Amino acid sequence: MNMHFIPVNEPLLNGNEKKYLCECIDTGWISSEGPFVKEFEQKMSATAGRKHGIAVSNGTAALEVAVQALGIGEGDEVIMPAFTIISCAMAVTKLCAVPVLVDSDIYTWNMKVDEIEAKITPRTKAIMIVHLYGLPVEVDSILALAKKYDLKVIEDAAEMHGQTYRGKPCGSFGDISTFSFYPNKHITTGEGGMVVTDDDGLAERCRMLRNLCFRKDVRYIHDEISDNYRFTNLQAAVGLAQLERLEEFAERKRAMGRYYTERLKDIEGLILPVAQTDYADNIYWVYGIVLDRQIKADNREIQKLLAEEGIGSRTFFWCMHEQPVYRKQGLFKGESYPDAEYLARKGFYIPSGLALTTEQMEQVCEGLHRVAERI
Ligand SMILES: *Cc1c(COP(=O)(O)O)cnc(C)c1O
Repeated sequence: MNMHFIPVNEPLLNGNEKKYLCECIDTGWISSEGPFVKEFEQKMSATAGRKHGIAVSNGTAALEVAVQALGIGEGDEVIMPAFTIISCAMAVTKLCAVPVLVDSDIYTWNMKVDEIEAKITPRTKAIMIVHLYGLPVEVDSILALAKKYDLKVIEDAAEMHGQTYRGKPCGSFGDISTFSFYPNKHITTGEGGMVVTDDDGLAERCRMLRNLCFRKDVRYIHDEISDNYRFTNLQAAVGLAQLERLEEFAERKRAMGRYYTERLKDIEGLILPVAQTDYADNIYWVYGIVLDRQIKADNREIQKLLAEEGIGSRTFFWCMHEQPVYRKQGLFKGESYPDAEYLARKGFYIPSGLALTTEQMEQVCEGLHRVAERI
């Protein structure tokens, strides 16, 4: 790797981050009790059009808290995409509930909504919507199904700050939604996450689940088990500064996406992100690319070739039904989701962080053109 290696993600931290962090140090408020936490919860949940925000230690914890708050437990089934991050399945399997998988669309990379209904059984308790890589899932038909079968809806909006579905913010759909603030997300707090909901009772339960399930009336007495998922004032300080720039960041992501598409659209054999659907404009959380069937190479080989060009990249997620840990447990035996499997083997993304310069994007495009000639 040379000195000019272009990292796959670099966050932009040149707003008020330092100023607010210094305030934490100067005032001594560094724990989860500090005043920035509530302010960040209020402002972030407001961007998602939600009444309550419960900040937690990361996006995975947000999913765990959300699923547990809904009362999902042993033997309950939760429908979700096969192609996603393990956090989604883990939030369910940790409670001894069962993820029920659905294949993904080869062009939007999201769950095939029209295959959900066939997966509903008497044990189905919820559907987990996971918006992936920049386009939202087609939410309306999922909400209609949930109504018809009386199911809960959990929305994983980890990659969707600032994105909308038919003009309404992602993070506002279903019973409960979650965000991540990992550094490759549109808004970062280093590590961090949030559960948002309009339901007062659910919000109350999430607050308890975030904090070891201390009973409200007496401390140190516990009727339930959860974990320590608290979020610190230091994280909130960074988050507040980031949130001030949400619109600018969303616009920047979209401009980066348009730039890449313009410069890469002539390369044969690459399926580029869908720019828009009738329900959303792509926000290009990361700029994903899928290799066409005519290309023999898989995403790992492309990743290696890009690295030789000094370009960082990541392969797409690996499917849940192909996870060794779940196979060992006997889950998903004999199941196959061909398009999801294809995406996991043929999809990758190129540098997409908010700190990326136009010059770097140009280098990425030139490198990718050279790689394309070699495959
Ligand atoms: C990043 C991400 C998560 C997990 O968030 P962490 O903060 O890394 O735990 C969950 N779901 C999706 C879709 C994500 O992209």
